[in-house]
Amino acid sequence: MTTPLSARAPRIRGARALFTGRPGGVSTGEHAGLNLARHVGDDETAVERNRALLAAEVGAPLVFVEQVHSADVHVLPAQEVPAQGPASGDPAPAPVVRADAIVTDRTDVALAIMVADCLPVLLSDPVAGVVAASHAGRRGLLDGVLEATLAEMSRLGARPEDTTASIGPAICGACYEVPAPMREDAARRLPGTASTTSWGTPALDLRAGAVSVLCAAGLPAEAIDAEHPCTLEDERFYSYRRSARTGRFAGVLRRA
Ligand SMILES: [Zn+2]
Repeated sequence: MTTPLSARAPRIRGARALFTGRPGGVSTGEHAGLNLARHVGDDETAVERNRALLAAEVGAPLVFVEQVHSADVHVLPAQEVPAQGPASGDPAPAPVVRADAIVTDRTDVALAIMVADCLPVLLSDPVAGVVAASHAGRRGLLDGVLEATLAEMSRLGARPEDTTASIGPAICGACYEVPAPMREDAARRLPGTASTTSWGTPALDLRAGAVSVLCAAGLPAEAIDAEHPCTLEDERFYSYRRSARTGRFAGVLRRA
């Protein structure tokens, strides 16, 4: 998808996808740009305007979840058939679901997962027609959010060998400093995540961890698009490590 809101298009098959950045939005100050998150201290009207701009860009309503660093997956229910008779006014607002991944086989909505240093992971099986978006931070990744997402995709008919993935902009293994015990714990649970910052202290490489999870689940290595910028180093993106008071950008995809 070529779009002014997209920093670099994800390589993924069977879906229209993008990663947003800061450019293109109406938020100001610390949240300046296309902040998509409520509850981060931004002006609510600006957030709604930003979400509307993105929905217009994608051409479908956006589905967000309330992200809580869990491994819980929200499977979007099949499209509801309207009750007989003329629609009476606006539909009731959909309840906000707590989850850190969204899965669907619907084509009428776009899935949006918000991040600012955590990994936005987009998945699509073009054969089965199933798409997913996951929020994989340290906790979610170690707790199995990607495995849980793939399991729900398979319940809708997706197969790992047909699935393509894009791991978007996130803090890199040379920037994500953590205490040494945290690095040891993560490396024990997910080999490949241990890293060192560019200034020589313990760090985690969540992107490498996500790639190894996806490969272990059966995705072909060449089907994983993992080359995206570091959010701490690249100021086109929100970074929680750069500034605790900031916005969130998103990985977005819609089944083609
Ligand atoms: Zn970095």
